[in-house]
Amino acid sequence: MLRIAVVGSGPSGVYTAQSLLEQRADGALPLAVDVLDRLPCPYGLVRYGVAPDHEKIKSLQNNLRQVLERPGVRFLGNVPVGESGIPAHALKDLYHAVVYCVGAARDRRLGIPGEDLAGSCSATDFVSWYSAHPDAVGRGFRLDGRGAVVIGVGNVAVDVARVLARGVAELRATDIPQGPLDALAASAVTDVHVVGRRGPSQAKFTTKELRELGTLPGAAVVVREDELAADPGYADPSGLSATARRNVAALRGWAGAPAGDAARRVHLRFFLRPVEILDDGRGAVRGVRFERSAPDGAGGVTGTGELVDIDAGLVLRSVGYRGVPLPGLPFDPASGTVPHTAGRVLRGGGASPGEYVAGWIKRGPTGVIGTNRPCAKETAGSVLADLPELARRKVAPGDPLDGLRAAGLAPVEWRGWLGIEAAEAELGRTLSRGPVKIPDWAGLLAAARGA
Ligand code: NAP
Repeated sequence: MLRIAVVGSGPSGVYTAQSLLEQRADGALPLAVDVLDRLPCPYGLVRYGVAPDHEKIKSLQNNLRQVLERPGVRFLGNVPVGESGIPAHALKDLYHAVVYCVGAARDRRLGIPGEDLAGSCSATDFVSWYSAHPDAVGRGFRLDGRGAVVIGVGNVAVDVARVLARGVAELRATDIPQGPLDALAASAVTDVHVVGRRGPSQAKFTTKELRELGTLPGAAVVVREDELAADPGYADPSGLSATARRNVAALRGWAGAPAGDAARRVHLRFFLRPVEILDDGRGAVRGVRFERSAPDGAGGVTGTGELVDIDAGLVLRSVGYRGVPLPGLPFDPASGTVPHTAGRVLRGGGASPGEYVAGWIKRGPTGVIGTNRPCAKETAGSVLADLPELARRKVAPGDPLDGLRAAGLAPVEWRGWLGIEAAEAELGRTLSRGPVKIPDWAGLLAAARGA
């Protein structure tokens, strides 16, 4: 029996566990795979990143659940690895192999003046808040002004803009926690400006997500034809990727259309490079100053010197995630990833026996959920190819769960997670809603222990 720990129960971790079982050759040593998570709940960004109104994508949890309930796989939540948890070297003493699927936990910063003013936040914090991530409980966001600016034009930017512009009646039907639902119900935001520093053909969002903005009841999409026309790909889309062509076509459809009497508007802006987040004189945001940019002919942009201010009480920077170093593992700060070859962690130029990576910490924060499948498959293939060598590694005898407990941890097992699910269904019943997420550590752990 070879014991394997997968650290992280998001898509990359669960797909790795699945791939390990499915690719294992008949007759090879049996595997026992523990999928560990810092949180008492599984599913990573599917639970804590996918927007609540994206029920179809969230239903992927059912597929991930099937893997975590398979014989040979065990979910162990509330197991922090690294700082304030079990160190990487101690985990390696409990398992023949450890696969790190820890994602990219931090947001990137802009590095412009005013970024720390009240009302200037990362979109990932906003996402964590409306997704009930227990580290975000009690956070507040300034929703008392009419304007909100989202900097960046990727899918996270589209998600937060959509949640800000969506009517609360629709959000009520989701599992959004009650605190954020009440705060959004009281929101005064009517105009959400989503701003890209380059042109529409270089935007990172995908067309399905973009088009969805045009379907929100009570909200209109506003696009300026002059900003679209500044992109050479607007007049001649023939050289664009298929996604860019579809995005430009969707934007073209909105260009110049009147907003009518919509209660809320999503303004999609382009060729505006953020220069400064503006102070209202009392330490809070009053807007964002941009410099208009123009295509430089090589895919980038150049400044024009023209300044454009957009009024806002809330600024969400949505300029991508970045990986954070895990104590005890090598890390490349430039890419925010762990150096590896085919998923094998590299130390001092060579593959380190028993240590692997998959997902965003391996390849950077790009791609959709499905992109994790081939990535996990490659890493699982490396683990399985190394099995004879891994079998020779000396690890502590017995069940690693005892080792985790001896290290002072109190893992939440699958039945504990089922207890959390039951408590969330019950909470929803008391609020006359479907299941509603529990937003705090104490509530989650109490529900898990109660089971
Ligand atoms: P992203 O796709 O990398 O987009 C980041 C955006 O920030 C880009 O528009 C980028 O512009 C801009 N940006 C970066 N630095 C900037 C700066 N200094 N000033 C102004 N703008 C700047 O990141 P993301 O939106 O966080 O998404 C991360 C990943 O999760 C993506 O793969 C995404 O598709 C995925 N995701 C998918 C879904 C979904 O499928 N529904 C939902 C959420 C997230 P440049 O291009 O000019 O650098």
